[in-house]
Amino acid sequence: FFNAPLADTVVKDAIAAELGRQQHTLELIASENIVSRAVMEAQGSVMTNKYAEGYPGRRYYGGCEHVDVVESLAQQRACEIFGVKHANVQPHSGSQANMAVYMATLNPGDTVMGMDLSHGGHLTHGSPVNFSGRLYEVVAYGVRQDNELIDYDVMQKMAEVQRPKMIIGGASAYERGIDFARMREIADKVGAILMVDMAHYAGLIAAGVYPSPVGHAHVITTTTHKTLRGPRGGMILTDDDELAKKINSRIFPGIQGGPLMHVIAAKAVAFGEALGDQFKEDQKQVIANARALAATLTEGGLRIVSGGTDCHMFRVDVRPQGITGKQAEEALEAAGITTNKNTIPFDPESPFVTSGIRIGASVITARGMKESDASLIGEMILQVLKAPEDAAIHAAVLDEVHKLTNRFPIYES
Ligand code: PLP
Repeated sequence: FFNAPLADTVVKDAIAAELGRQQHTLELIASENIVSRAVMEAQGSVMTNKYAEGYPGRRYYGGCEHVDVVESLAQQRACEIFGVKHANVQPHSGSQANMAVYMATLNPGDTVMGMDLSHGGHLTHGSPVNFSGRLYEVVAYGVRQDNELIDYDVMQKMAEVQRPKMIIGGASAYERGIDFARMREIADKVGAILMVDMAHYAGLIAAGVYPSPVGHAHVITTTTHKTLRGPRGGMILTDDDELAKKINSRIFPGIQGGPLMHVIAAKAVAFGEALGDQFKEDQKQVIANARALAATLTEGGLRIVSGGTDCHMFRVDVRPQGITGKQAEEALEAAGITTNKNTIPFDPESPFVTSGIRIGASVITARGMKESDASLIGEMILQVLKAPEDAAIHAAVLDEVHKLTNRFPIYES
């Protein structure tokens, strides 16, 4: 049975269709990326068969000598990329990385301060529907209404009153650089731990094109699959020896069992890629492309939250077009352009409707597109959003999408 090729037609057809979707549509979801074949090869390897509870050299199972090699390599490369002492590469996801840090640093009922989900924070930063909001007291900070930038003064005042034990920096939707040094100052004033969840920005930070939390945060979490361009998964970094030990034991045996060794092998490969010069160039290009796209949309009459972007993504207020985020997402999808509806700060609409969409430039950049292509995509988006109900225009744009994606092929054998 183990030599049989994939013959399950339902699964095989779905994978083939997903490949076609990725090849022939424009993927603008800010949290996504496309990995190299090398990363996929490692992830699709026999390491999926191996149980390896514990850490390299200290396992609860025999036969771990080869998986130890890849986990140690992933740890070393992560430390080298970000300039930190300790890396735990076992979290199955970004959410589990965050959960392990909560468990290593807080007791249920303690107060944490994170960015409001509706202003750009993540579910795990204290949303009431997430473990973070259910197990801990949460105080949320946000952005100013006039400039849509994080309000550090209000954050400080709130921290002084509420005395959180942990402050969380980082966001799922925030266009501008984050002042991690200022956040550390606030944390120090109230005796809080600063955790930075750099999931969205990790690739940019690795390349030195976005402010780094290293040296400011007590502990840093990330996903490995967003700008960092690795397999789906999470990671935790710290310079603190004691905290590193606690975090290791909260990941295993705290909240996880056996690590996903095939994913860790793929993390090692992706981190190797992130250490290369090409990766740095690519990350610079990601920001250039995001800016070119945002500028085209602005010229076309749409409003970018905070007026522009300093990273791979931005939120677009689609109200000038007289539509909601939900309508915008659906119309764009009909034209082969994938985005997600997203609340904008102080959004009068519900999270299911929203007044905005979020756009990211990681995938188009990984395909090799440059600023002129990003501007072209901006024009296509404008055409669709100006005629959200017009199937003929959607079809015409879809045709343009196919022409553009054919110029930048991916995963062709
Ligand atoms: N942290 C941030 C800032 C995120 O944006 C995300 C995912 O979107 C996560 C954590 C969670 O990652 P995962 O989906 O791997 O649990």
